[in-house]
Amino acid sequence: MFVPKINNFEYLTNISNELPYQHWFDHAPVGMFITNSKGKYVAVNNLFAQILGYKSSDDFLANYQTANYYFYVEPNRFTYFLELLNKNQKVFKFESQVYKRDGSMIWLTENVNPIYDHQGELIGYEGVIEDITERKEKELEMENNLFRLQELCEIKSKFVSMVSHEFRGGLSVILSSSDMLKVYGEKLADTQKQKHFDKINHQVEELTDLLEDLLQFGKIEASKDNLQQEDIDLENFCQEVMEDIGHINKKGNPIILNNHSGVRTILGDRLMMKRMVINLLYNAVKYSPDQGKIEFNVSDHRAEIMFQICDEGIGIPESEIANLYTSFYRCKNTGKIAGTGLGLSIVKKIVDLHQGNISVESTLGKGTTFTVSLPV
Ligand code: ADP
Repeated sequence: MFVPKINNFEYLTNISNELPYQHWFDHAPVGMFITNSKGKYVAVNNLFAQILGYKSSDDFLANYQTANYYFYVEPNRFTYFLELLNKNQKVFKFESQVYKRDGSMIWLTENVNPIYDHQGELIGYEGVIEDITERKEKELEMENNLFRLQELCEIKSKFVSMVSHEFRGGLSVILSSSDMLKVYGEKLADTQKQKHFDKINHQVEELTDLLEDLLQFGKIEASKDNLQQEDIDLENFCQEVMEDIGHINKKGNPIILNNHSGVRTILGDRLMMKRMVINLLYNAVKYSPDQGKIEFNVSDHRAEIMFQICDEGIGIPESEIANLYTSFYRCKNTGKIAGTGLGLSIVKKIVDLHQGNISVESTLGKGTTFTVSLPV
C-alpha cells in the first residue's frame, strides 16, 4: 500500500499529515490502519474507526492505543494472530469476532502486512479490515440448519429401524397368540386362553403407545414455528390433566394434585403443555411400583410457573441423566418396563418452544422429581 513512500519510523508517525494518498486513505471502502512495530496505532481512516464504533479516526486514536488481547471475543485469538504474523510475516483473511467500543460484537476480516525500512528493519504494520457480520451470520445460520438437518436425518433413520423392530416384534407376538387361539382354541384351558388374550391386548397397547409418541414427535417438529399460544386457565388445565392421566393410569397409582399457584392463567400452546405434563406423569406411573405415590405440584415464583412431578419409583442412574432428552434413549435400569425413549425428548422440545427449563433430581430406588419452569 504505502511501502514505497516509507523510509523511516519518523515518517510512520507523521504519516497522516504527509500522506500523498491521504484522500484515498480517508475515503477507502475498507477500514485501513497503520501501527508501529509494537502494534501502537499511528494512523487509521474514518471507516476503520466507525466499524469499531468510534466517531472518527481522531476519536479512535485518542482512545485506543495498541492492538491487544481484549479486542477479540475468543480469548486465544490474539495469540494465534501473533503466531501467524511471526510465522508468515503477514496475516490474510483473518476472520474473528471482536468487541466494538460499546461492547457489542461484530465479525471482522483482517489483512495485515509488515512494513520494512530501507535497511530491512521492521518498522510497523499496515492492514485493512472489513465488517463481515452479515455474511458470517448467514453462514452460521446455514451451518445450524445443516446441523439440524443432519440431526433430523439421524433421528429419522433411528426412527425407521426402531419402529420396524418394535412393530415386527409386537406383531409376531400377536400373530403367534392368535394362531394358538385359532388352532388349539378348543383344547386350551380358559386360563391359557386368557393368557393369550392378555398378550394380544398388551402388545396392541404398546404399539398404540408407540404410534402415539411418533405422531406427537412428528407434530411437534412440524409446528415448531407455529405455536398456537393462548391464555390457559391453570385450574382447568390441571383438572383436565388429572382426568386424562386417570384414563391411562392402569396400575391405579395414587396421583395427588397440589396446586399452590396464585397465577390464574398462563400463556402457551394448550395441547402441547398437556402432552408435556401427561408424559411426565405417565413416566412417573410407569417407573413406580404398584401403589407408589405420585405428586403433581404446581407453584409460581416471580414470573415463572413451576410444574413438579415427583414419584417414588426406580430412579435414574446419575451417569445417564445427561442423555435423558435424547430421542430413543432409555436408561439401563428400565428392565422389562416397555417404552420408546421418545417421551422425554417430546417434553424437552415443548419446554424449549415455550422458553422454559426442565431439571431432574433422582435417587436410584427412591424416586425422581422432574421440575418444569415456564415464563408466565
Ligand atoms: P420411555 O418411553 O422409555 O419411557 P422417555 O423418553 O419418556 O422414554 O424416558 C427416557 C428414559 O428416562 C426412560 O426410558 C427411563 O429410563 C428414564 N425415565 C424417565 N422418567 C423416569 C422416571 N420418572 N423414573 C425413572 N426413570 C425415568
